[in-house]
Amino acid sequence: MAQVVLAVPHGYCPPATVRICDRVAERSARALSGALSWLGVDAHVHVLSTLRADVDMNRWEARGTLYRLKLLVDMKAAALLLDVHSFPPERPDRGELYVLYLVGGTQERLAVDFQEYMLRTIGLTVPIVRGKASTLLGGGNDILTVARTIGLPALLLEFREDLGDGRLAELAAPIARWTQSKIV
Ligand SMILES: [Zn+2]
Repeated sequence: MAQVVLAVPHGYCPPATVRICDRVAERSARALSGALSWLGVDAHVHVLSTLRADVDMNRWEARGTLYRLKLLVDMKAAALLLDVHSFPPERPDRGELYVLYLVGGTQERLAVDFQEYMLRTIGLTVPIVRGKASTLLGGGNDILTVARTIGLPALLLEFREDLGDGRLAELAAPIARWTQSKIV
């Protein structure tokens, strides 16, 4: 069982002319899991293999899918969840990387702690965005919602999609060190 679970619910990116997925989410998650392994932290990456347009794996209605059931098994045994996404670069206010959390529980504290850590260690300003809990009526961030329900510390990371592999690796190293400090 993994100490850290990396969910990548929008990471399946078949060739397309328009944006239909989180374009650098899988590469970001792989960079993170590599940096975590380097530190001796066991991490599992859960990349979806179907399109967000078919079933959005970050929504309530995806509960019960094989992807979400496997993720849940891993989450129940883990110490921390990182929900990894990416966003189009047309949002300069969001920085190279921002975090999203749900109010209540440990996620807000983790988000602030992460923001302080990244500023202190690499001088990077990480914006914080408040997410929405999911409901039966839909919407929201369901993976974070489940994490909160089962008492698993969690944070959602959003990487800007024009970041190259070199920069993603540079960012992954301090994120992995921060992650390690949260699970011991
Ligand atoms: Zn996403």
